[in-house]
Amino acid sequence: MRPFTYTGAKSKDEALQAFHNSSHYLAGGTNLIDLMKEHVAQPEQLIQVKNLKFKNISANKKGGYTLGAMLSNADTANHKDIRSHYPLLSMAMLSAATAQIRNMATNGGNLLQRTRCPYFFETSMPCNKREPGSGCGALKGMNAQHAIFGYSEACIATHPSDMCVALAAIGATVEVQQRDGNSRHIDFSEFHRLPGDQPEKDTNLETGELITAIHLPKPVLSNHYAYVKIRERSSYAFALISVAAGFQIENDKISEIGLAMGGVAHKPWKLTKAEDFLLGKQPTEANFKKAADLAMADAKPFEDNAYKVQMGKNAIVRALNEAKEKAV
Ligand code: SF4
Repeated sequence: MRPFTYTGAKSKDEALQAFHNSSHYLAGGTNLIDLMKEHVAQPEQLIQVKNLKFKNISANKKGGYTLGAMLSNADTANHKDIRSHYPLLSMAMLSAATAQIRNMATNGGNLLQRTRCPYFFETSMPCNKREPGSGCGALKGMNAQHAIFGYSEACIATHPSDMCVALAAIGATVEVQQRDGNSRHIDFSEFHRLPGDQPEKDTNLETGELITAIHLPKPVLSNHYAYVKIRERSSYAFALISVAAGFQIENDKISEIGLAMGGVAHKPWKLTKAEDFLLGKQPTEANFKKAADLAMADAKPFEDNAYKVQMGKNAIVRALNEAKEKAV
């Protein structure tokens, strides 16, 4: 690990003012410290922000709830209001990592997790995300766990978070503090980005912006919900494929729906075509299968990950069926 300086910020202003171009905010550190040990991340300064006051869960003016960015994943997932109003989010968060990591990891940090592409961690291999311009080891290498949507020649990595798949389905908004003292809100669909020719950038955050809150909309997906996560072992593993599904049924028709997928793209992948198809339809197996076909129609797999297309369809149908059965 390279030497670095450590600044314990006592306020957001102190954190923002301390930031320079070689700084990194530190909260739970469950991903960042590993990356530093592997020489993948090499910040010159760490600014501790975990103790800042953004640790509450509260009702917001839009009829939803706001999650503090520095609150732990465990405290968020187990909070009574989140369990009752956003059970899909709670379920997705509790499927992630281990209890110990969920106790340490924060909500803001979860959004900033970096890919688990093995070439990204292996500094002897080319990786455009770690070292821009060096090439992509996975493109013609081992790509069984890589993207089937939205990738570029520069990077075919996937986003690893479970929480973010649920937030994409729910339609959250991220609040960030800017270095000039202003704040801005970013729609969750715009928070993460596709790799294009700048795979080193995972998000649309500007340099030094600090995540302080995640705003959840009015809870309309809490009656029927399911998070299906398919992985190589049953715990402490990232998703090969995951699906977050939530919907509402009125008069035997789907009146609200949120669907998103993990493990398939550089960002949580919203299944807009499937949502549009299912809205106003009956929640039948036939409709679920048609929606799954639509969702996966544009998939472009590689040699090692073609299995994700059928697995993705199956996971979508399973998530929708489980959500239908789970009537609250
Ligand atoms: Fe690096 Fe992305 Fe290629 Fe993986 S897929 S080696 S993260 S550039």
